[in-house]
Amino acid sequence: MRYDLSELTLLRCANCGSDLDGLSTDVIFYCSECGRCWISGEQLTPISIEFVRLGGSDSILMPFWKVDASVTIRNRIIRQESSMAARSGFREFTGSERGLAESDTGSRKVRFVFPAFSTGLVLSTGVRMHVENFLPEKTEHGKRFRIIGGSVGKDDAALLARAVALGVEVNRSDFLASVDLEIEVHSAGIYAIGCTPEKQVLKINGSEIGILFAAINDFDEILKQNKDFSD
Ligand SMILES: [Zn+2]
Repeated sequence: MRYDLSELTLLRCANCGSDLDGLSTDVIFYCSECGRCWISGEQLTPISIEFVRLGGSDSILMPFWKVDASVTIRNRIIRQESSMAARSGFREFTGSERGLAESDTGSRKVRFVFPAFSTGLVLSTGVRMHVENFLPEKTEHGKRFRIIGGSVGKDDAALLARAVALGVEVNRSDFLASVDLEIEVHSAGIYAIGCTPEKQVLKINGSEIGILFAAINDFDEILKQNKDFSD
C-alpha cells in the first residue's frame, strides 16, 4: 500500500480501483489487476506501457522511459585528427584552419530508451541502449506483472532524453569539438523491460548491458517487492 502524504489517501487505480503498490519515491504505477499504467502528479494520468524482453522466471521487469523525439543538430563541429595543432600567424583563424569541420547537421527522428528508476548510471545506460533495437513483445492478457521503482517523472524524462542525445553525439567515433542540438519530444511512454540479476549486475535481457546493483537506489526493496509478488 502506498499513501500520498499530502492527502493521506491510498493510491488506487483510476480504472479498476485496485491498490497501486510501489516505493515511496515512485511516480509510475502499474496496476497488476487491469494492466493500466499511471503516472502521478496532481492526479493520476494514464501512460502507455509495453513489455519488452520478458525473459524467464528469474527475470524482473524494470521501468524504462521510451521517448520518441526529433533531434535537430544545428551545428556540429568535429576536430580533424590529423590537424590537432592550430597554426599560428597574423592571419584570421577560421574553423578549417584549426582542423575543425562541420558534420551531419539536420533533423532526424530518434527513439531514446533509458531507466525510469533511480540510478547513477541513467545517462550511460541510455547511450548504450541507444544502439539496440528494443521492440515490444505481445502482452499476454490477464498475466500479472509487477513494475516497481519508477521514480523518474515525465518532465525529467524529457530533460534526460536531451542529455542522452548529447551523450550519443559525444560517443560517436569522430572527434567532437562542439554540438548544438535541439530536441522536440513527440511522445513518451513506459517500456517494462525484463532484466536478470547476475552476480553484482542487473543485466538487460538480450543485451550485454548491465547496471551495477550498487548504482540502483532502492534495489534491495525493488527485488523484495518483486519476490513478494511472485511468491
Ligand atoms: Zn486497475
